[in-house]
Amino acid sequence: MQFRPPEDHSDFYSIKKNSGNCCKVSKSARRSVFERDGFKCLKCGREDNLTIDHILPRCKGGKNKQSNLQTLCYKCNCNKSDDIIDYRKVLIKIN
Ligand SMILES: [Zn+2]
Repeated sequence: MQFRPPEDHSDFYSIKKNSGNCCKVSKSARRSVFERDGFKCLKCGREDNLTIDHILPRCKGGKNKQSNLQTLCYKCNCNKSDDIIDYRKVLIKIN
């Protein structure tokens, strides 16, 4: 096995490798979405295994904009799959 030390775009490669569908969301964008949502899953309230979910999936034209991003834990994100659910609006309706 050969390991080549990363060059300038090391960040790009590691993000792409590690996070599948979320590969285009920058670290700073992820952080501000987590902060906005209080570092909690918007569906179940968990505070670990958090992921960034695209409300409108990128394959359907969704953008990497904060308004299209929400915090979900890994489990809720998997369960949601390709459904278009904006949990922030769901929460607002309930409250
Ligand atoms: Zn959850």
